Amino acid sequence: MTNTANISFLDLGLANAAYADELKAAACRVIDSGRYVGGAEVEALESDLRALTGAPFAVGVSNGLDALRLIMRAYVEMGVMKPGDEVIVPANTYIATFLAIDDAGLVPVPVEPDPATFNLDTRRLSVALTPRTRAVLPVHLYGRICWDGRLAEFVRQNGLKVIEDAAQSIGARSTAPGPHGSCCAAALGDAGALSFYPTKNIGALGDAGAVVTHDEQLAAAVRALANYGADRRYHNIYRGFNCRLDPIQAAMLRVKLAHIDSENEGRRRRAALYDGLLDGAAGVVRPAMPADAAGHVWHQYVVRIPGGRRDAVQGMLREQGIMTDIHYAVPPHLQPCYEGRWSSADLPLTARLAGEVLSLPVGTGTTDDEVARVARALADVASRGG
Ligand SMILES: *Cc1c(COP(=O)(O)O)cnc(C)c1O
Repeated sequence: MTNTANISFLDLGLANAAYADELKAAACRVIDSGRYVGGAEVEALESDLRALTGAPFAVGVSNGLDALRLIMRAYVEMGVMKPGDEVIVPANTYIATFLAIDDAGLVPVPVEPDPATFNLDTRRLSVALTPRTRAVLPVHLYGRICWDGRLAEFVRQNGLKVIEDAAQSIGARSTAPGPHGSCCAAALGDAGALSFYPTKNIGALGDAGAVVTHDEQLAAAVRALANYGADRRYHNIYRGFNCRLDPIQAAMLRVKLAHIDSENEGRRRRAALYDGLLDGAAGVVRPAMPADAAGHVWHQYVVRIPGGRRDAVQGMLREQGIMTDIHYAVPPHLQPCYEGRWSSADLPLTARLAGEVLSLPVGTGTTDDEVARVARALADVASRGG
């Protein structure tokens, strides 16, 4: 008998069930500690993140958007950037990347992606360069490292900072190290933002994030900004925020971070399965496999369904009980909050991809059998005409 049980896109309860005993023990430890903001759990997580990424400084913060906001704001407070300065970003990203730049009074300058990888097309960097450019903010989208010789040379030649949006790419490694010697996502450039939103590869049981950096001064500014702008008690050097990481989330994250290799390996296995099973499937464009497996942690496995058929294909899969998702249906530059800033003609490739992308279940809890069923069903419905 064929299995017709529904396949969810991502079942977070199931994903965390594997660690339930450890998570409960860690939660009890925090409850009993009497320390509910900051303290040893947060410091231990920061130490784990330094060890993982190779960056010498890590600051736990409230979420991934705040991690990015705090980095940008810190550079402004430090005088490294000033309002009106430009930051080159991929047009094809989650809106948080844009919001963080805007929030500091900086100007996002979007660049079209390479459709094979979905990441910022580094061949287009020089077109975006102006005298006001101060930084490049690559996003390792869907978990794939965005780092190559062109990007490294571009930032070196032009004296630009590199701030990484590593919200989707914890544990991914570049073949070539960044200028500070680390190969790890978030530590390739000057500073990186991590998100531990529950759906991310390492997810908290709520909101959480972190900044990692090679810059001691930036780390201190981020830490102060996240704590009302205080560098010590009742001494506020900035008009800051409250963007601290809760120890309860730090404790959850330390449990899950210890399993990062098996988490990411599972995603790599499922992605490789999809790649093989969808080989030759008509009407489905697979994502390029990375030259080096370490360069991708498959936060999402995203295919393209060209020809205006994506929504129909998604609907037919749903009718078979197979849930998929879209990352992202509307790119940042076409969101209502940016009305008047860009037009729909400005970034045609990004706009087109938004209508073609389809994310298949690849997360923890998705079994290899489910991957096979999804791939078979997708190959079937995508091959049907019109
Ligand atoms: C999730 C995400 C963020 C924001 O992280 P939060 O923790 O949800 O605030 C930023 N950028 C990208 C690319 C993301 O996927």
